[in-house]
Amino acid sequence: MKHNFGPGPGILPHEVLKQAAAAVIEFNGTGLSLLEVSHRSPEFEAVLDEAIKLVKELLAVPAGYSVLFLQGGASTQFAMVPYNLLPDGGKAAYLESGVWANKALKEAKYFGEVEIVATSKESNFTYIPKDFTIPADAAYFHITSNNTIYGTQLHKFFPSPVPVVCDMSSDIFSRKINVADFGIIYAGAQKNMGPAGVTLVIVKDDILGKSGRKIPAMLNYQTQIEGGSMYNTPPVFAIYVSMLTLNWLKSKGGVAEIEKENTVKSKVLYEEIDRNPLFKAVCAVEDRSDMNVCFVAENPEHEKPFLKLCDEKGIVGIKGHRSVGGFRASIYNALPITSIYVLIDAMQEFAEKNK
Ligand SMILES: *Cc1c(COP(=O)(O)O)cnc(C)c1O
Repeated sequence: MKHNFGPGPGILPHEVLKQAAAAVIEFNGTGLSLLEVSHRSPEFEAVLDEAIKLVKELLAVPAGYSVLFLQGGASTQFAMVPYNLLPDGGKAAYLESGVWANKALKEAKYFGEVEIVATSKESNFTYIPKDFTIPADAAYFHITSNNTIYGTQLHKFFPSPVPVVCDMSSDIFSRKINVADFGIIYAGAQKNMGPAGVTLVIVKDDILGKSGRKIPAMLNYQTQIEGGSMYNTPPVFAIYVSMLTLNWLKSKGGVAEIEKENTVKSKVLYEEIDRNPLFKAVCAVEDRSDMNVCFVAENPEHEKPFLKLCDEKGIVGIKGHRSVGGFRASIYNALPITSIYVLIDAMQEFAEKNK
């Protein structure tokens, strides 16, 4: 078995993979593969209902919000959000905390004015800007809760005079959140929730219908709500595996329990990075992510041999993003702490060899 530190598509629980594999052969006593049942069959409708119920339960979604399973990834949400919320000639506020945030605000520029309230671009996004004012005349304020590429995470959300839209692709279900603080939460499933091919959207119903814009059906949250995420054929397999993963999370005690585990996992790994003379973390300490732990070798010549050692130990997916370099250990919900200890052992062995 490999120790999968990949940034996404990321690790899924092994028992989920086994259940998913079985359903591909025969789904739920239907005599058919999950891949060939009608999405309108009662068996699949039960899966979608269960997935929505689990999202509501695990995140304690209050009344007045709709839960959607859509396609097109978080990247489609970059456009769908302004399409639905930003009136012609209106303004949206964005916090630029990384490349994903930058891509999101670029899409919004097709629909209206964009005010970047703050950016950490000048430091290649090694911290999250905190000192800024959110304009009260903006249609919404967009943030990224976890910056997957740089390993920074918002540990405290900002009080906002306007609806907050949050890209939670890489830390959804990793920690408790207060859904009522947000107008829209969206997340591509493939980091911490399921396989690629489905995007979770949680939207506050009463922020919709105010842009005055005509919106094509597939890109209109209202159509998707009215169609119960089945305006067209939904991604049946990705929804099924997401449902299984959410069920797995529930059986582990839910978000509060996994948050405790995630905190311990990141803590022991950062402790080793801070202690080990060969490695260092580059991000602001107070913004360190519990999901993507980024670090570099003090001596750049150590980078390749350390990756080789990792490879020998079955540690995969640890090379840093090309725009940052170094290493990135993505330690999503399904990664057991035993894998963290294998990585820590490798770091210690490497330091011993290179004294
Ligand atoms: C991976 C990622 C994205 C892009 O997601 P897609 O589903 O591939 O469009 C967007 N935002 C964040 C924070 C991500 O980690």
